Amino acid sequence: RIAYVNGRYLPHGQAGVHIEDRGFQFADAVYEVCEVKDGLLVDEGRHLQRLTRSLSEIRMAEPRHPAALGAILREVVRRNRVRNGIVYLQVTRGVAPRNHPFPNPEVAPGLIVTARSINPAEGRERARTGIAVITTPDNRWERVDIKSVGLLPNVLAKQKAREAGAFEAWFIDENDYITEGSSTNAWIVTGEGVLVTRPADHSILRGVTRMVVLETAEDLGMTVEERPFTLAEVRAGREAFITASSTLVMPVVKVDGETLGDGLPGPVAIRLRSVFHDHADYGRNW
Ligand code: PLP
Repeated sequence: RIAYVNGRYLPHGQAGVHIEDRGFQFADAVYEVCEVKDGLLVDEGRHLQRLTRSLSEIRMAEPRHPAALGAILREVVRRNRVRNGIVYLQVTRGVAPRNHPFPNPEVAPGLIVTARSINPAEGRERARTGIAVITTPDNRWERVDIKSVGLLPNVLAKQKAREAGAFEAWFIDENDYITEGSSTNAWIVTGEGVLVTRPADHSILRGVTRMVVLETAEDLGMTVEERPFTLAEVRAGREAFITASSTLVMPVVKVDGETLGDGLPGPVAIRLRSVFHDHADYGRNW
Protein backbone atom coordinates (compact mmCIF):
# COMPACT_ATOMS: atom_id res chain seq x y z
CA ARG A 1 0.00 0.00 0.00
CA ILE A 2 1.04 3.59 -0.69
CA ALA A 3 0.25 6.67 1.40
CA TYR A 4 0.61 10.35 0.58
CA VAL A 5 2.42 12.30 3.31
CA ASN A 6 3.23 15.99 2.89
CA GLY A 7 4.08 15.91 -0.79
CA ARG A 8 5.49 12.36 -1.01
CA TYR A 9 4.07 8.97 -1.92
CA LEU A 10 5.52 6.45 0.54
CA PRO A 11 5.14 2.74 1.26
CA HIS A 12 2.48 2.44 3.95
CA GLY A 13 4.86 0.91 6.51
CA GLN A 14 7.27 3.84 6.22
CA ALA A 15 4.65 6.60 6.16
CA GLY A 16 4.68 8.58 9.40
CA VAL A 17 4.21 12.08 10.79
CA HIS A 18 6.36 13.99 13.27
CA ILE A 19 5.73 13.41 17.00
CA GLU A 20 4.95 17.11 17.38
CA ASP A 21 2.39 17.22 14.60
CA ARG A 22 -0.58 19.05 16.15
CA GLY A 23 -2.93 16.44 14.73
CA PHE A 24 -1.16 13.87 16.90
CA GLN A 25 -0.71 16.13 19.97
CA PHE A 26 -4.05 17.99 20.10
CA ALA A 27 -6.32 16.43 17.45
CA ASP A 28 -5.84 19.87 15.86
CA ALA A 29 -6.84 18.51 12.48
CA VAL A 30 -9.82 17.80 10.25
CA TYR A 31 -10.50 14.99 7.81
CA GLU A 32 -12.70 13.57 5.07
CA VAL A 33 -13.62 10.06 3.99
CA CYS A 34 -14.86 9.58 0.45
CA GLU A 35 -16.29 6.41 -1.05
CA VAL A 36 -14.55 4.88 -4.07
CA LYS A 37 -16.85 3.00 -6.42
CA ASP A 38 -15.63 1.30 -9.58
CA GLY A 39 -12.44 3.34 -9.27
CA LEU A 40 -14.28 6.68 -9.11
CA LEU A 41 -14.64 9.07 -6.17
CA VAL A 42 -18.25 9.46 -5.09
CA ASP A 43 -19.37 13.04 -4.38
CA GLU A 44 -15.79 14.33 -4.29
CA GLY A 45 -17.00 17.91 -4.77
CA ARG A 46 -19.24 17.85 -1.70
CA HIS A 47 -16.55 16.22 0.44
CA LEU A 48 -14.02 18.87 -0.55
CA GLN A 49 -16.57 21.63 0.10
CA ARG A 50 -17.17 20.22 3.59
CA LEU A 51 -13.40 20.06 4.14
CA THR A 52 -13.10 23.73 3.22
CA ARG A 53 -15.85 24.52 5.73
CA SER A 54 -14.25 22.42 8.52
CA LEU A 55 -10.90 24.14 7.89
CA SER A 56 -12.49 27.57 7.97
CA GLU A 57 -14.28 26.76 11.27
CA ILE A 58 -10.91 25.89 12.86
CA ARG A 59 -9.38 29.00 11.24
CA MET A 60 -7.15 27.19 8.78
CA ALA A 61 -6.60 27.90 5.10
CA GLU A 62 -6.89 25.15 2.50
CA PRO A 63 -3.50 23.43 2.18
CA ARG A 64 -4.03 23.21 -1.61
CA HIS A 65 -6.72 24.27 -4.05
CA PRO A 66 -9.59 21.72 -3.89
CA ALA A 67 -8.77 20.69 -7.48
CA ALA A 68 -5.21 19.80 -6.40
CA LEU A 69 -6.54 17.88 -3.38
CA GLY A 70 -8.86 15.96 -5.69
CA ALA A 71 -5.89 15.06 -7.89
CA ILE A 72 -3.99 13.70 -4.85
CA LEU A 73 -7.04 11.68 -3.73
CA ARG A 74 -7.32 10.12 -7.18
CA GLU A 75 -3.58 9.42 -7.35
CA VAL A 76 -3.63 7.59 -4.01
CA VAL A 77 -6.64 5.57 -5.17
CA ARG A 78 -4.82 4.74 -8.41
CA ARG A 79 -1.52 3.79 -6.74
CA ASN A 80 -3.35 1.46 -4.36
CA ARG A 81 -5.46 -0.02 -7.18
CA VAL A 82 -8.62 0.59 -5.16
CA ARG A 83 -11.71 -0.25 -7.23
CA ASN A 84 -14.13 -0.19 -4.32
CA GLY A 85 -13.33 1.17 -0.88
CA ILE A 86 -12.55 4.48 0.76
CA VAL A 87 -10.01 7.27 0.53
CA TYR A 88 -9.07 9.21 3.69
CA LEU A 89 -7.62 12.73 3.83
CA GLN A 90 -6.41 14.57 6.92
CA VAL A 91 -5.21 18.16 7.26
CA THR A 92 -3.40 19.16 10.45
CA ARG A 93 -2.20 22.53 11.73
CA GLY A 94 1.35 21.28 11.20
CA VAL A 95 4.41 20.57 13.32
CA ALA A 96 5.46 22.90 16.14
CA PRO A 97 6.76 22.60 19.72
CA ARG A 98 3.82 21.45 21.83
CA ASN A 99 1.96 24.55 22.98
CA HIS A 100 -1.79 25.12 22.82
CA PRO A 101 -2.04 28.40 20.86
CA PHE A 102 -1.65 28.32 17.08
CA PRO A 103 2.02 28.32 16.03
CA ASN A 104 3.19 31.89 15.46
CA PRO A 105 4.47 32.39 12.86
CA GLU A 106 2.26 29.89 11.05
CA VAL A 107 3.81 26.59 9.96
CA ALA A 108 3.06 24.49 6.89
CA PRO A 109 -0.11 22.40 7.36
CA GLY A 110 0.21 18.62 7.42
CA LEU A 111 -1.54 16.67 4.69
CA ILE A 112 -1.93 12.92 4.53
CA VAL A 113 -4.02 10.69 2.25
CA THR A 114 -4.55 6.93 2.47
CA ALA A 115 -6.88 4.55 0.64
CA ARG A 116 -8.07 1.02 1.18
CA SER A 117 -10.21 -1.52 -0.58
CA ILE A 118 -13.44 -2.79 0.89
CA ASN A 119 -15.25 -5.78 -0.59
CA PRO A 120 -18.72 -4.47 -1.60
CA ALA A 121 -20.15 -7.91 -0.75
CA GLU A 122 -19.61 -7.14 2.95
CA GLY A 123 -21.94 -4.14 2.86
CA ARG A 124 -24.46 -5.98 0.68
CA GLU A 125 -24.63 -8.85 3.15
CA ARG A 126 -24.98 -6.50 6.12
CA ALA A 127 -27.73 -4.61 4.32
CA ARG A 128 -29.54 -7.86 3.54
CA THR A 129 -29.88 -8.76 7.22
CA GLY A 130 -29.91 -5.24 8.68
CA ILE A 131 -27.88 -4.07 11.65
CA ALA A 132 -28.32 -3.66 15.40
CA VAL A 133 -27.66 -0.34 17.13
CA ILE A 134 -27.33 0.59 20.79
CA THR A 135 -27.89 4.01 22.35
CA THR A 136 -25.52 5.99 24.55
CA PRO A 137 -25.49 9.53 25.97
CA ASP A 138 -24.05 12.14 23.60
CA ASN A 139 -21.00 13.30 25.53
CA ARG A 140 -19.29 15.10 22.64
CA TRP A 141 -18.57 18.83 22.35
CA GLU A 142 -21.05 21.27 20.77
CA ARG A 143 -19.32 21.58 17.39
CA VAL A 144 -19.50 18.08 15.97
CA ASP A 145 -20.46 19.66 12.63
CA ILE A 146 -16.70 20.25 12.28
CA LYS A 147 -15.20 17.01 10.96
CA SER A 148 -12.38 17.00 13.51
CA VAL A 149 -10.14 14.01 14.19
CA GLY A 150 -10.97 14.40 17.92
CA LEU A 151 -13.08 11.24 17.92
CA LEU A 152 -12.51 9.69 21.35
CA PRO A 153 -16.22 9.76 22.36
CA ASN A 154 -17.06 8.21 18.98
CA VAL A 155 -14.41 5.51 19.45
CA LEU A 156 -15.72 4.65 22.93
CA ALA A 157 -19.32 4.58 21.68
CA LYS A 158 -18.45 2.32 18.73
CA GLN A 159 -16.53 -0.02 21.02
CA LYS A 160 -19.51 -0.17 23.37
CA ALA A 161 -21.65 -1.13 20.37
CA ARG A 162 -19.21 -3.86 19.33
CA GLU A 163 -19.17 -5.29 22.85
CA ALA A 164 -22.98 -5.39 22.79
CA GLY A 165 -22.91 -7.22 19.44
CA ALA A 166 -24.18 -4.13 17.60
CA PHE A 167 -22.81 -2.38 14.51
CA GLU A 168 -23.41 1.23 15.55
CA ALA A 169 -24.07 3.38 18.62
CA TRP A 170 -26.62 6.20 18.46
CA PHE A 171 -25.89 9.24 20.59
CA ILE A 172 -28.82 10.64 22.60
CA ASP A 173 -28.87 14.29 23.69
CA GLU A 174 -30.04 15.72 27.03
CA ASN A 175 -33.60 16.08 25.69
CA ASP A 176 -33.80 12.38 24.76
CA TYR A 177 -33.43 13.05 21.05
CA ILE A 178 -31.10 10.98 18.91
CA THR A 179 -28.36 13.13 17.39
CA GLU A 180 -26.50 10.68 15.14
CA GLY A 181 -24.38 7.55 15.14
CA SER A 182 -20.72 7.41 16.12
CA SER A 183 -19.76 7.52 12.42
CA THR A 184 -23.14 7.69 10.64
CA ASN A 185 -26.31 9.81 10.45
CA ALA A 186 -29.60 8.42 11.83
CA TRP A 187 -33.01 8.19 10.13
CA ILE A 188 -36.48 6.81 10.75
CA VAL A 189 -39.64 6.26 8.76
CA THR A 190 -42.61 7.08 10.96
CA GLY A 191 -45.88 5.14 11.20
CA GLU A 192 -47.30 7.67 8.71
CA GLY A 193 -44.49 6.94 6.25
CA VAL A 194 -42.64 10.22 6.80
CA LEU A 195 -38.86 10.11 6.45
CA VAL A 196 -37.25 11.93 9.39
CA THR A 197 -33.66 12.94 10.08
CA ARG A 198 -32.19 15.51 12.44
CA PRO A 199 -31.54 19.00 11.01
CA ALA A 200 -27.94 19.77 10.09
CA ASP A 201 -27.19 22.14 12.97
CA HIS A 202 -24.06 22.02 15.16
CA SER A 203 -25.16 18.77 16.87
CA ILE A 204 -24.50 16.42 13.93
CA LEU A 205 -22.02 16.02 11.14
CA ARG A 206 -23.53 17.20 7.84
CA GLY A 207 -23.18 13.86 6.14
CA VAL A 208 -22.67 13.97 2.41
CA THR A 209 -24.64 10.73 2.16
CA ARG A 210 -27.37 12.36 4.27
CA MET A 211 -27.59 15.24 1.82
CA VAL A 212 -27.75 12.97 -1.24
CA VAL A 213 -30.37 10.74 0.43
CA LEU A 214 -32.48 13.81 1.29
CA GLU A 215 -32.39 14.91 -2.35
CA THR A 216 -33.08 11.37 -3.56
CA ALA A 217 -36.08 10.99 -1.24
CA GLU A 218 -37.51 14.27 -2.46
CA ASP A 219 -37.00 13.23 -6.09
CA LEU A 220 -38.86 10.01 -5.32
CA GLY A 221 -41.74 12.06 -3.92
CA MET A 222 -41.32 10.95 -0.31
CA THR A 223 -42.40 13.22 2.53
CA VAL A 224 -39.31 14.32 4.39
CA GLU A 225 -38.98 16.15 7.70
CA GLU A 226 -35.73 17.48 9.10
CA ARG A 227 -36.42 17.46 12.84
CA PRO A 228 -35.10 15.72 15.95
CA PHE A 229 -36.68 12.36 16.86
CA THR A 230 -36.72 10.27 20.04
CA LEU A 231 -36.08 6.61 20.77
CA ALA A 232 -39.82 6.19 21.41
CA GLU A 233 -40.46 7.36 17.84
CA VAL A 234 -37.91 4.86 16.56
CA ARG A 235 -39.77 2.06 18.35
CA ALA A 236 -43.17 3.28 17.14
CA GLY A 237 -41.97 3.85 13.56
CA ARG A 238 -41.99 1.64 10.48
CA GLU A 239 -38.25 1.53 9.91
CA ALA A 240 -34.89 2.98 10.76
CA PHE A 241 -31.57 3.24 8.96
CA ILE A 242 -28.16 4.89 9.03
CA THR A 243 -26.15 6.64 6.33
CA ALA A 244 -22.44 7.29 5.72
CA SER A 245 -19.99 7.19 2.84
CA SER A 246 -18.56 3.94 4.19
CA THR A 247 -21.89 2.16 4.85
CA LEU A 248 -24.23 3.92 2.38
CA VAL A 249 -27.87 3.41 3.38
CA MET A 250 -27.89 0.62 5.99
CA PRO A 251 -31.15 -0.68 7.49
CA VAL A 252 -31.45 -0.91 11.30
CA VAL A 253 -33.46 -3.86 12.62
CA LYS A 254 -32.67 -3.81 16.34
CA VAL A 255 -32.22 -1.01 18.91
CA ASP A 256 -30.84 -1.70 22.40
CA GLY A 257 -31.54 -5.41 21.93
CA GLU A 258 -35.16 -4.87 20.94
CA THR A 259 -36.28 -5.93 17.46
CA LEU A 260 -37.97 -3.23 15.36
CA GLY A 261 -41.21 -4.34 13.68
CA ASP A 262 -40.79 -7.68 11.91
CA GLY A 263 -36.99 -7.50 12.28
CA LEU A 264 -36.41 -7.19 8.54
CA PRO A 265 -34.85 -4.28 6.59
CA GLY A 266 -37.57 -1.81 5.61
CA PRO A 267 -38.64 -1.10 2.01
CA VAL A 268 -37.71 2.61 2.14
CA ALA A 269 -34.16 1.85 3.28
CA ILE A 270 -33.81 -0.90 0.66
CA ARG A 271 -35.06 1.40 -2.09
CA LEU A 272 -32.90 4.36 -1.07
CA ARG A 273 -29.86 2.08 -0.91
CA SER A 274 -30.54 0.65 -4.35
CA VAL A 275 -30.94 4.05 -6.06
CA PHE A 276 -28.30 5.94 -4.08
CA HIS A 277 -25.51 5.73 -6.65
CA ASP A 278 -27.82 6.96 -9.41
CA HIS A 279 -28.12 10.21 -7.46
CA ALA A 280 -24.48 10.51 -6.36
CA ASP A 281 -22.02 12.56 -8.37
CA TYR A 282 -18.89 11.18 -10.05
CA GLY A 283 -17.82 14.42 -11.67
CA ARG A 284 -15.21 16.88 -10.47
CA ASN A 285 -17.48 19.85 -9.95
CA TRP A 286 -16.19 21.79 -6.95
N1 PLP B 1 -21.74 11.36 11.44
C1 PLP B 1 -20.48 11.14 11.87
C2 PLP B 1 -20.15 11.40 13.31
C3 PLP B 1 -19.50 10.67 10.98
O1 PLP B 1 -18.24 10.46 11.40
C4 PLP B 1 -19.87 10.43 9.63
C5 PLP B 1 -18.90 9.94 8.63
O2 PLP B 1 -17.82 9.53 8.89
C6 PLP B 1 -21.18 10.66 9.23
C7 PLP B 1 -22.09 11.13 10.17
C8 PLP B 1 -21.63 10.41 7.81
O3 PLP B 1 -21.07 11.36 6.93
P1 PLP B 1 -20.86 11.06 5.39
O4 PLP B 1 -22.17 10.66 4.83
O5 PLP B 1 -20.36 12.35 4.83
O6 PLP B 1 -19.84 9.97 5.30
